[in-house]
Amino acid sequence: METFTLNNGVTIPALGLGVFQTPPDETRAAVTAALEAGYRHIDTAAAYGNEREVGEAVHASEVDRADVFLETKVWISDYGYDETLHAFDKSARKLGVEQIDLLILHQALPSEFQRTLDAYRALETLLADGRVRAIGVSNFMVEHLTTLLDTTSVVPAVNQIEVHPYFAQAEVQAFGVDHDILTQAWAPIGGITFYRDSGHRSTLEDPVIAEIASRHDKTPAQVMLRWHLQQGRQVIPKSTRASRIQENIDVFDFDLTPAELGSIDSLDTGRRGGPDPSTVTLETWGRPIPEA
Ligand code: NDP
Repeated sequence: METFTLNNGVTIPALGLGVFQTPPDETRAAVTAALEAGYRHIDTAAAYGNEREVGEAVHASEVDRADVFLETKVWISDYGYDETLHAFDKSARKLGVEQIDLLILHQALPSEFQRTLDAYRALETLLADGRVRAIGVSNFMVEHLTTLLDTTSVVPAVNQIEVHPYFAQAEVQAFGVDHDILTQAWAPIGGITFYRDSGHRSTLEDPVIAEIASRHDKTPAQVMLRWHLQQGRQVIPKSTRASRIQENIDVFDFDLTPAELGSIDSLDTGRRGGPDPSTVTLETWGRPIPEA
């Protein structure tokens, strides 16, 4: 498995398994299938309600815990310095680990940004104490990152944002390149375009992507994952099906040409599938995260 090196020297596999919307009772099987297929990175979140099952699958596997990169996210309802320290305890207990490889803030809370900054300071403390190996953010836009860098000391290792052929977020990505923040692409094969916004076509049925896929004897999903990797983005495709989990990691034996990368770039619609990060509030999105 190829890796990316984070800005603090820690390495992360180039591709991991996402488990958003993977029901808890299907999570163990999905993570087990992924580990058997060669995945060594799982991306979960306190808000997904399946950290416990992710941990159980990792501990039951023959793969050493030390060889699996575990990433999880603090939900907005647990922001604030003390609250976020406690959120680490909840996630670590559910995952059954002493140390989390990468802990990130799931969203900025623009209307209560001080609370977001306090949460990030808790991540800095956890990093200094060795409870986490790296820290980062998710769904942070340029203005959120700018304030964060101005007021805290550790540059986030990653910003996990929506990126797929129909939504590229070029400015946020460029900010990441300039500040050595790795972009992790969520919905890397455009999953959000399948189930949330009927105004989008599905990226899986896009004729440009399909044509490139047939040229390489690969699937549209594989072409999209390859497009991210060649452009320096880490990817976390989600599937609960063993055959797709296998398909999605089989992307390290071909290269897209610069012209093919450019054709996929040109599909950007500028329309996000997920919630607008500037509108996230505790009132609309807050919900308690259970104790471990
Ligand atoms: P993805 O782009 O990974 O797409 C997932 C969808 O594609 C599912 O419906 C899955 O169905 C289907 N699928 C998977 N592989 C294939 C394939 N090879 N061919 C055809 N269909 C396929 O979208 P996600 O939204 O799940 O994003 C991936 C991960 O990113 C999440 O699981 C989560 O870890 C993270 N994420 C983070 C967010 C954040 O706010 N930070 C928000 C959203 C996601 P099936 O399972 O039936 O195979």
